[in-house]
Amino acid sequence: MTDAITSKTAAELAGDFRDGTLSASEIVDAHLDRIEALNPELNAFLYIDADRARRRAADLDAVRAAGNEAGALAGVPIGLKDLLCTEGIPTTAGSKILKGWRPPYDATVVSRLEAQGAISLGKLNMDEFAMGSSNENSAYGSVKNPWDTSKVPGGSSGGSAAAVAAGMVPLALGSDTGGSIRQPAALCGVVGVKPTYGRVSRYGVIAFASSLDQIGPFGRTVADAAFMLEAIWGYDHFDSTSIEEPPTPVGSVLDDGVQGLRVGVISELANTEGLQPEVAAALQRSAGQLAAAGAIVDEVSVPSIEYGLSAYYLIAPAEASSNLARYDGIRYGLRVEGPDTAATNRLTRAAGFGDEVKRRIMLGTYALSAGYYDAFYGKAQQVRTLIIDDFARAYERFDVLLSPTSPTTAFGLGDKVDDPLAMYLSDVCTIATNLAGAPAMSVPVGKDAHGLPIGMQILAPALGERPMFQAGAALEAAASFNAAEKTGGAL
Ligand code: GLN
Repeated sequence: MTDAITSKTAAELAGDFRDGTLSASEIVDAHLDRIEALNPELNAFLYIDADRARRRAADLDAVRAAGNEAGALAGVPIGLKDLLCTEGIPTTAGSKILKGWRPPYDATVVSRLEAQGAISLGKLNMDEFAMGSSNENSAYGSVKNPWDTSKVPGGSSGGSAAAVAAGMVPLALGSDTGGSIRQPAALCGVVGVKPTYGRVSRYGVIAFASSLDQIGPFGRTVADAAFMLEAIWGYDHFDSTSIEEPPTPVGSVLDDGVQGLRVGVISELANTEGLQPEVAAALQRSAGQLAAAGAIVDEVSVPSIEYGLSAYYLIAPAEASSNLARYDGIRYGLRVEGPDTAATNRLTRAAGFGDEVKRRIMLGTYALSAGYYDAFYGKAQQVRTLIIDDFARAYERFDVLLSPTSPTTAFGLGDKVDDPLAMYLSDVCTIATNLAGAPAMSVPVGKDAHGLPIGMQILAPALGERPMFQAGAALEAAASFNAAEKTGGAL
């Protein structure tokens, strides 16, 4: 019975609640049972909010029994990456430094989802402060990939991707600064969307690199990802980077097909170093499927894309070094008492931050220091402009672009922990999008010889979510990634 409920999509569950087939309480209980069964092994949830979820489900059931409208997402369980502030509910950003911190307010995305009847089942594991590509930088232990528990789920939103893949929740939110939604979505065989910068409010989101961070959905289908995106996006006056112009719905274009859509295959990423042959083959197959569906497919060069990784690893740490200055042992979470304020500050940060976060703070502080600002941070900003210009040229000829999401499928736990540069290379296909402020999504299109999912990335120009979802839906339909297996592979 449990699996009959947890294998449903969010759209199906919302329909079942609306027409009375299932109560919100039945839906929530089935998902909580699955979390209880699988979380000890997967470690996707850091905090399970069972009592509150059950109370909310009972309230929604009462609203429906009274004949009232309970919202578009009524009865749908969701999971929240643990950098989204939730009022009174522990929020750690995967870090020891925020252990025990309970935010005084909800992030806008959280309050929007709840206002539409979604029920949060808890907070999801992540790399500390969203820095990582494997979830192994979490202070609370690694997440395991539901398809093969000896593999990483990707990162930094690994808990979100694993929870959705394993059927613990049909929908989850993650954040994407350089690929942290798309790369784990690819490695876990789910759909992940990084919207246009400014489309989704970041009010109440713990910041990593503010010129790059964006919040987005995970779902097991393109339609579910659209469903969640439409529930969260749109102007928020609490976020100064929020776009005022209202978004155009994407759920309505999913059946439009790709007849005449111009799709450019990014040549630099089709041949990128370290590309797994099965991923390269999947890219060619996906391009062929889009062409067969009526798209006009050709290769396109985005030359400066290869400098994206270097620019990102200057800009993101620079911004992080500034954003993370607020964790001082005085205002939030952990406090290690010293003889004076400066010592308290130093001791708290030494004990509270993990190695990767310290590495980024040092890199960022160095890149911003007076003697090196122009050589490093300034140059990286120039590269960012080149990337924006190169994309603009590509979008003169194409509506969307196509590339692998990640050069490889899920790698082994522990394989890259001692080699930060190898880890950084996981993001080679995703990072340029963030530097350009543009949207991109990952869609599962197949599996490698070991049965591990392969994700394909569809990129679009800023505000180009509509053609992106059109292509995403077409790719999903053509790829026929086995739906039954999407709820957790071997589990
Ligand atoms: N993996 C990249 C990093 O470590 C991207 C992280 C992200 O998008 N939050 O910075």
